[in-house]
Amino acid sequence: MKNKVFVNDKIYDAENAKISVFDRGYLFSDGIYELIPYFNSKPFLFEEHYNRLEKNLEMIDLANPYEKDDWVNKIKNFIKDCDFKNFYLYIQVTRGIPRDYNDGVLREHAVTKNYKPTVCMFFSEINGFSKELPKNKSAITMEDKRWMQCNIKSISLLFNAYAKTVAHSQGAYEAILVRNGMITEGCSSNVFIIKNKIIKTTPTSKHILPGITRSYVIEGIIKNNGYELSIVDFSENDLVSADEVFVTNSTQGIVPITCINNNDISSGLCGEITEKLYKKFVRSLG
Ligand code: PMP
Repeated sequence: MKNKVFVNDKIYDAENAKISVFDRGYLFSDGIYELIPYFNSKPFLFEEHYNRLEKNLEMIDLANPYEKDDWVNKIKNFIKDCDFKNFYLYIQVTRGIPRDYNDGVLREHAVTKNYKPTVCMFFSEINGFSKELPKNKSAITMEDKRWMQCNIKSISLLFNAYAKTVAHSQGAYEAILVRNGMITEGCSSNVFIIKNKIIKTTPTSKHILPGITRSYVIEGIIKNNGYELSIVDFSENDLVSADEVFVTNSTQGIVPITCINNNDISSGLCGEITEKLYKKFVRSLG
């Protein structure tokens, strides 16, 4: 199957998909994105992902280019030839290109013109969830040097990409970010720790992205199964001395982290509660 890309209502083979160099997404990272996972060809938490997309557009004061029904139809039409069973749909909306180039101003920071937004979508295969636990993964900690509006799913991922690269270069899966000694989130995940059977995760604020998987795990798995939960800030010291640590994101669900900065978390194996949560999560997908 050829990789396809949707750009403003047209569908291209990946190598032919192009946008203008004057797109404000390209020049200023002026845009947002969303990523919707599909498992067994079904979207997982579509409404929640769509609502976040809509909210993000509002937060950057960018009019939604389509009505919700249009989005649904365009997405269905776009992915109808996708042969993957498990994949993510990446959606990016930028403020786009000036509708008029004749005033000679090709690049200006301020949003002063009438722009035509750019909507781009593509999909990519991912692994489905196995009933077995994922392999143990490690993380490093790093100072969180991002801006103060991390609740926006901005396409400006310079620091996130840098932090992930540093983690990978050290053989780690994730970089867990620390602001003023307190954990914010992973560079592409939300973080949970467990100490004395109490599950803790950082409250939503401008310091973290409100992960769709985070909410699902809190509401649908942790609370539904009677675990004790505390939504509270916790320190880097709490992280490294936790009994169990796991991170959440849309493509991998719950990922146990068993080693941080080269030191094992407890025994260095996935903890009992994380394993139970993972299995309940996988079962809940049907
Ligand atoms: N935080 C950041 C910075 C992320 O990039 C992601 C993944 N997009 C998450 C958290 C997890 O969010 P979600 O569960 O919606 O994938």
